[in-house]
Amino acid sequence: MLKTAQQLITQAAQNLGLDQFSIDALLATDAEHQFEIELDSGKKLHAYRVQHNNKLGPYKGGIRFHPDVDLDEARALATLMSLKTAAMGLPLGGGKGGVSVNPSEMTDQELEEISRKYVRGIHEHIGPDKDVPAPDVNTNGTIIDWMVDEYEKITGDTSKASFTGKTIKNGGSLGREAATGRGGVIALSELLKYDGLAAESLTFAIQGFGNVGSFFAVIAEQYPNWKLLATSDSASTVYSPSGLNANDLFDFKEGRGRFSDYKAEGAKHLSADEIIGLDVDVLVLAALGDAITEDNMRDVKAKYIVEMANGPVDKAAIDYFTERKVSILPGIIANAGGVIVSYLEWVQNKKNEHWTEEEVNQQLTEYMIEAVKNLVETSKEPGVINLPEAAFIIAIRRLTK
Ligand code: GLU
Repeated sequence: MLKTAQQLITQAAQNLGLDQFSIDALLATDAEHQFEIELDSGKKLHAYRVQHNNKLGPYKGGIRFHPDVDLDEARALATLMSLKTAAMGLPLGGGKGGVSVNPSEMTDQELEEISRKYVRGIHEHIGPDKDVPAPDVNTNGTIIDWMVDEYEKITGDTSKASFTGKTIKNGGSLGREAATGRGGVIALSELLKYDGLAAESLTFAIQGFGNVGSFFAVIAEQYPNWKLLATSDSASTVYSPSGLNANDLFDFKEGRGRFSDYKAEGAKHLSADEIIGLDVDVLVLAALGDAITEDNMRDVKAKYIVEMANGPVDKAAIDYFTERKVSILPGIIANAGGVIVSYLEWVQNKKNEHWTEEEVNQQLTEYMIEAVKNLVETSKEPGVINLPEAAFIIAIRRLTK
């Protein structure tokens, strides 16, 4: 993932005529914090926070709990965050953190201990005007609330603007939980309008049904001409040629069900990987990074790929899809709904205001419409070969102004 992010930056920067010195400056991270969390049980975990670039504002980006978290992944994700906030025109920079842990093997008490000890390890380097973390893979409002509480205890800061993605009762914003999925649906529908497909019937599949994929599915139900044929979790794909019911899947997942046990009329079960090769118009990638690489890119039949995870398509696959005229809606725009509403949450905290869900969703919609317009216009400039390159060009122009 790091290599893909760096190659995309380099390609877009060269297109803009930047010299090697400026490209190296864009690739470099500002700071990399690594520390160890020792649990009361004696278990030791590796923890990270990488701060990539704060030229446009405080570092901003999530904290994930996942066994694959390492320094290179945090570097890649922090880099993508700076490009994302810049591409969206937000006054924020980019950072990312995480703990290398499998949360499903931890008790709630241990998750709280990890969250609090993470903050003890990093508190000097974060803060409302320095670096504002948020949820990411396997982290949520409850985890963020523990972190905010720990941060308040250590620093005395009561603004709540030290983190975003908090629960509503603790200063979180209405609309934040669904924001990434909602933003992705808006971005896709805008892109389809530019391609003259707004009124067409479309089938789609969603890889991953966590916070991002599940809200994408539910919000996409507002488009009666889009039909969800398949979705997956890490163990299996559920597929129905006549269409799946997103709300039913959502309720099933809330009850912590595995899709291998999901039953609905006409629904079949396939392996988790098979979702990539299904015959659908749109493939939504809402699981993890590097979901499509040289190994499986030839299986893809979709004409549109929506990057709802961070870095789900590697550079070799992006080049392959460009040749085959498959459109990739790049993650630094498609999945930016989360950080947009994080920004709105941060502004509300700073002004001590509470906006309605309609107000928040309206602002999210405006950001997305503007970003996709800019994306499509930039993609038509001479020498720009695909939407990911256009997105990176938009971001780099702002980062080097
Ligand atoms: N983790 C989300 C992302 O990758 C949100 C970051 C944020 O809200 O700061 O964009």
